Amino acid sequence: MEKMKLLQKTYSDLEIQKDVPLAGYTTLRVGGRADYLLTAEKEDTFCGVLRFLKEENIPFLVLGNGSNLLVKDGGFRGAVLRLGKEFGRIERTEEGLYAQAGALMSVLAKTALENGLAGLEFAHGIPGSVGGGVYMNAGAYGGEMSQVVRFVRVYNGEEIVDIPGSEMAFAYRHSRAMEENWLILGAAFALQAGDKGEIEAKMRDFAQRRREKQPLEYPSAGSFFKRPAGYFAGALIEQSQLKGVSVGGAQVSEKHAGFLINKGGATADDFLQLMKKVQDTVYEKFGVQLECEVRIVGNDE
Ligand SMILES: Cc1cc2nc3c(=O)[nH]c(=O)nc-3n(C[C@H](O)[C@H](O)[C@H](O)COP(=O)(O)OP(=O)(O)OC[C@H]3O[C@@H](n4cnc5c(N)ncnc54)[C@H](O)[C@@H]3O)c2cc1C
Repeated sequence: MEKMKLLQKTYSDLEIQKDVPLAGYTTLRVGGRADYLLTAEKEDTFCGVLRFLKEENIPFLVLGNGSNLLVKDGGFRGAVLRLGKEFGRIERTEEGLYAQAGALMSVLAKTALENGLAGLEFAHGIPGSVGGGVYMNAGAYGGEMSQVVRFVRVYNGEEIVDIPGSEMAFAYRHSRAMEENWLILGAAFALQAGDKGEIEAKMRDFAQRRREKQPLEYPSAGSFFKRPAGYFAGALIEQSQLKGVSVGGAQVSEKHAGFLINKGGATADDFLQLMKKVQDTVYEKFGVQLECEVRIVGNDE
């Protein structure tokens, strides 16, 4: 705690909370407590805190909007770093838009629409932050972050640098930020002038398709598994007769088998057991190993 007091003295905009339940910070609504939750409002603070945690060998986890995270029931022994409300600025640029990492992708997409800029329609219904979206190379309906990111502003532990999109090693739900443990501070997007009516119609269409196909009324982390080459995870799970199968409060959605949902009162362990059951059954039936898309973090106890 002495170390944390030192941090607080150095950065006046830093909010330090102790022993914080993380379930409320993730869309799955499960998970234990973090020793510390640190919320920074300024870029310099965020980088300074990260440097400090690295120097002091304190484990850390960067939290975006928590929409692709499964935090284990044991919580997180260390510090969870969160971007504050002030960290969501979005600006018009010559080529399109620049957004700070804490901006929500839905807000970014809406800003693009308001400015008559096409290219971010796919991002409208993805409930993550720009930081999380770039980190995960989030995508939907044929669109993907990799197609629109011009450069990513990252802190690499020593300095802040702008990494061109072409050097981000983007692949399916993968980016270089994962390999290099970069902190994403913001991203610039190259967008084209478009017709507002057409952009809006596309967004509406995607939103309707989501409402029809996805169990948006339950807490989830979206598609739990990555799409295996040549297959669809949801179809394999459905054909394995796993729809509706549950462990505790965690269930394979009846509406979309690729979603594992929290029917109420689920624990992280329920999800981990259900995940294994799904993986084992699909492997036995089809010989396909389903890989988790959701990032599993935290301590067992
Ligand atoms: C209902 C629903 C629908 C979804 N639909 C889609 C979809 O269509 N397509 C899709 O791709 N995903 C989808 N998702 C998953 C999720 O929204 C995306 O993966 C999103 O990009 C995660 O962003 P986040 O801010 O919530 O990240 P988090 O879940 O908070 O974090 C995810 C990972 O990113 C890291 N991270 C977050 N912010 C930063 C940062 N600033 N710097 C460095 N690392 C960071 C975290 O450490 C973690 O490893 C869906 C989820 C839900 C709940």
